[in-house]
Amino acid sequence: MKQEASVPKRSITSIATRNTCAICVALREFQGDLLKSLRPDQCRNFCNTHGWMVANSAPADTAAAIFLGAIVNANWSSARCVSEQCDICTRMHREKEARLDEIAKQFRDARLHSWLRDYGVLCSRHGQETMTRLPESLRESVQEIMARAGGEIVEMLEDYLQRVKRGSHTGGGVLGRAAEFLVAQRGIES
Ligand SMILES: [Zn+2]
Ligand SMILES: [Zn+2]
Repeated sequence: MKQEASVPKRSITSIATRNTCAICVALREFQGDLLKSLRPDQCRNFCNTHGWMVANSAPADTAAAIFLGAIVNANWSSARCVSEQCDICTRMHREKEARLDEIAKQFRDARLHSWLRDYGVLCSRHGQETMTRLPESLRESVQEIMARAGGEIVEMLEDYLQRVKRGSHTGGGVLGRAAEFLVAQRGIES
Protein backbone atom coordinates (compact mmCIF):
# COMPACT_ATOMS: atom_id res chain seq x y z
CA MET A 1 0.00 0.00 0.00
CA LYS A 2 1.30 3.42 -0.90
CA GLN A 3 2.24 5.49 2.10
CA GLU A 4 0.28 8.71 2.14
CA ALA A 5 2.18 11.95 2.55
CA SER A 6 2.63 11.97 6.28
CA VAL A 7 1.75 15.06 8.23
CA PRO A 8 4.14 15.25 11.18
CA LYS A 9 2.22 14.03 14.17
CA ARG A 10 2.26 15.76 17.51
CA SER A 11 3.25 13.65 20.47
CA ILE A 12 0.62 12.92 23.08
CA THR A 13 2.40 15.02 25.70
CA SER A 14 2.44 18.05 23.41
CA ILE A 15 -1.31 17.61 22.88
CA ALA A 16 -2.19 17.17 26.55
CA THR A 17 -4.01 20.21 27.86
CA ARG A 18 -6.03 20.84 30.97
CA ASN A 19 -9.35 20.89 29.19
CA THR A 20 -9.66 18.02 26.77
CA CYS A 21 -8.70 14.37 26.58
CA ALA A 22 -5.33 14.05 24.80
CA ILE A 23 -6.39 10.90 22.94
CA CYS A 24 -9.62 12.56 21.75
CA VAL A 25 -7.64 15.55 20.47
CA ALA A 26 -5.10 13.28 18.73
CA LEU A 27 -7.90 11.30 17.07
CA ARG A 28 -9.73 14.43 15.98
CA GLU A 29 -6.54 15.78 14.38
CA PHE A 30 -5.83 12.43 12.73
CA GLN A 31 -9.35 12.26 11.30
CA GLY A 32 -9.16 15.82 10.01
CA ASP A 33 -5.81 15.19 8.27
CA LEU A 34 -7.01 11.86 6.91
CA LEU A 35 -10.15 13.36 5.37
CA LYS A 36 -8.26 16.29 3.84
CA SER A 37 -5.75 13.99 2.10
CA LEU A 38 -8.17 11.13 1.36
CA ARG A 39 -7.93 9.16 -1.90
CA PRO A 40 -10.99 7.39 -3.32
CA ASP A 41 -9.37 3.93 -2.94
CA GLN A 42 -8.98 4.53 0.79
CA CYS A 43 -12.72 4.81 1.35
CA ARG A 44 -14.78 2.15 -0.40
CA ASN A 45 -16.86 1.09 2.56
CA PHE A 46 -18.02 3.74 4.95
CA CYS A 47 -20.52 4.25 7.73
CA ASN A 48 -23.14 7.00 7.69
CA THR A 49 -21.11 9.25 9.98
CA HIS A 50 -18.02 9.05 7.79
CA GLY A 51 -20.11 9.47 4.64
CA TRP A 52 -21.18 12.85 5.99
CA MET A 53 -17.64 13.70 6.99
CA VAL A 54 -16.38 12.86 3.49
CA ALA A 55 -19.07 15.14 2.05
CA ASN A 56 -18.03 17.97 4.36
CA SER A 57 -14.26 17.63 4.58
CA ALA A 58 -12.71 15.52 1.80
CA PRO A 59 -11.45 17.15 -1.42
CA ALA A 60 -14.42 17.61 -3.79
CA ASP A 61 -13.06 15.29 -6.52
CA THR A 62 -12.34 12.55 -3.97
CA ALA A 63 -15.79 12.85 -2.39
CA ALA A 64 -17.49 12.72 -5.81
CA ALA A 65 -15.48 9.62 -6.83
CA ILE A 66 -16.24 7.87 -3.51
CA PHE A 67 -19.98 8.52 -3.73
CA LEU A 68 -20.09 7.60 -7.42
CA GLY A 69 -18.33 4.30 -6.65
CA ALA A 70 -20.92 3.51 -3.98
CA ILE A 71 -23.96 4.54 -6.00
CA VAL A 72 -23.09 2.59 -9.18
CA ASN A 73 -22.26 -0.52 -7.15
CA ALA A 74 -25.53 -2.46 -6.76
CA ASN A 75 -24.05 -4.44 -3.87
CA TRP A 76 -22.93 -1.43 -1.88
CA SER A 77 -24.52 -0.81 1.46
CA SER A 78 -23.66 1.54 4.28
CA ALA A 79 -21.17 0.01 6.70
CA ARG A 80 -21.75 -0.22 10.40
CA CYS A 81 -19.77 2.29 12.41
CA VAL A 82 -17.13 -0.22 13.54
CA SER A 83 -13.62 -1.04 12.42
CA GLU A 84 -13.21 -3.72 9.73
CA GLN A 85 -16.50 -2.57 8.18
CA CYS A 86 -15.98 1.14 7.59
CA ASP A 87 -12.58 1.97 6.07
CA ILE A 88 -12.30 5.22 8.03
CA CYS A 89 -13.43 3.64 11.33
CA THR A 90 -10.73 0.99 10.75
CA ARG A 91 -8.04 3.65 10.35
CA MET A 92 -9.33 5.52 13.39
CA HIS A 93 -9.23 2.33 15.44
CA ARG A 94 -5.62 1.64 14.45
CA GLU A 95 -4.61 5.18 15.28
CA LYS A 96 -6.32 4.93 18.65
CA GLU A 97 -4.44 1.73 19.48
CA ALA A 98 -1.13 3.40 18.54
CA ARG A 99 -1.93 6.48 20.64
CA LEU A 100 -3.00 4.39 23.64
CA ASP A 101 0.29 2.47 23.37
CA GLU A 102 2.13 5.80 23.21
CA ILE A 103 0.48 7.22 26.32
CA ALA A 104 0.89 3.92 28.21
CA LYS A 105 4.61 4.02 27.41
CA GLN A 106 4.81 7.54 28.77
CA PHE A 107 3.14 6.53 32.01
CA ARG A 108 6.03 4.09 32.46
CA ASP A 109 8.58 6.93 32.18
CA ALA A 110 8.97 8.45 35.66
CA ARG A 111 9.33 12.06 34.52
CA LEU A 112 6.48 12.00 32.00
CA HIS A 113 4.39 10.05 34.46
CA SER A 114 4.41 12.81 37.06
CA TRP A 115 3.77 15.43 34.41
CA LEU A 116 0.77 13.50 33.07
CA ARG A 117 -0.54 12.95 36.58
CA ASP A 118 -0.41 16.69 37.26
CA TYR A 119 -1.54 18.08 33.91
CA GLY A 120 -2.98 15.31 31.76
CA VAL A 121 -6.67 14.93 30.89
CA LEU A 122 -8.30 11.72 29.73
CA CYS A 123 -11.98 11.11 29.05
CA SER A 124 -13.49 8.15 30.88
CA ARG A 125 -13.42 5.88 27.84
CA HIS A 126 -9.78 6.53 26.97
CA GLY A 127 -8.80 6.52 30.65
CA GLN A 128 -10.27 3.01 30.98
CA GLU A 129 -8.55 1.88 27.80
CA THR A 130 -5.21 3.30 28.97
CA MET A 131 -5.56 1.43 32.27
CA THR A 132 -5.90 -1.93 30.55
CA ARG A 133 -2.39 -1.33 29.14
CA LEU A 134 -0.80 -0.51 32.47
CA PRO A 135 0.36 -2.57 35.42
CA GLU A 136 -1.71 -2.27 38.59
CA SER A 137 0.88 0.07 40.19
CA LEU A 138 0.36 2.75 37.53
CA ARG A 139 -3.41 2.55 37.15
CA GLU A 140 -4.05 4.75 40.15
CA SER A 141 -2.54 7.76 38.37
CA VAL A 142 -4.98 7.36 35.50
CA GLN A 143 -7.86 7.23 37.97
CA GLU A 144 -6.51 10.39 39.62
CA ILE A 145 -6.48 12.15 36.25
CA MET A 146 -10.07 11.19 35.53
CA ALA A 147 -11.23 12.09 39.04
CA ARG A 148 -9.43 15.44 39.01
CA ALA A 149 -11.17 16.61 35.83
CA GLY A 150 -14.57 15.65 37.25
CA GLY A 151 -13.75 17.12 40.68
CA GLU A 152 -12.91 20.55 39.31
CA ILE A 153 -16.19 20.76 37.41
CA VAL A 154 -18.19 19.57 40.43
CA GLU A 155 -16.61 22.28 42.63
CA MET A 156 -17.34 24.99 40.08
CA LEU A 157 -20.95 23.85 39.63
CA GLU A 158 -21.60 23.66 43.37
CA ASP A 159 -20.15 27.11 43.84
CA TYR A 160 -22.26 28.46 40.96
CA LEU A 161 -25.41 26.84 42.34
CA GLN A 162 -24.87 28.52 45.73
CA ARG A 163 -24.49 31.90 44.04
CA VAL A 164 -27.62 31.39 41.92
CA LYS A 165 -29.57 30.53 45.08
CA ARG A 166 -28.42 33.82 46.57
CA GLY A 167 -29.78 35.58 43.48
CA SER A 168 -26.54 36.17 41.60
CA HIS A 169 -26.51 34.87 38.07
CA THR A 170 -22.99 35.89 37.12
CA GLY A 171 -20.46 33.28 36.13
CA GLY A 172 -22.80 31.25 33.92
CA GLY A 173 -19.76 30.29 31.82
CA VAL A 174 -19.39 27.37 34.18
CA LEU A 175 -22.47 25.78 32.58
CA GLY A 176 -20.74 25.83 29.22
CA ARG A 177 -17.64 24.26 30.78
CA ALA A 178 -19.81 21.53 32.32
CA ALA A 179 -21.52 20.80 29.00
CA GLU A 180 -18.11 20.70 27.31
CA PHE A 181 -16.84 18.34 29.98
CA LEU A 182 -19.76 15.95 29.46
CA VAL A 183 -19.22 15.96 25.71
CA ALA A 184 -15.51 15.30 26.26
CA GLN A 185 -16.37 12.39 28.54
CA ARG A 186 -18.20 10.80 25.69
CA GLY A 187 -15.21 11.46 23.46
CA ILE A 188 -14.88 11.55 19.73
CA GLU A 189 -16.05 7.98 19.27
CA SER A 190 -19.79 7.76 19.62
ZN1 LIG B 1 -10.84 10.66 24.98
ZN1 LIG C 1 -16.91 5.03 9.97
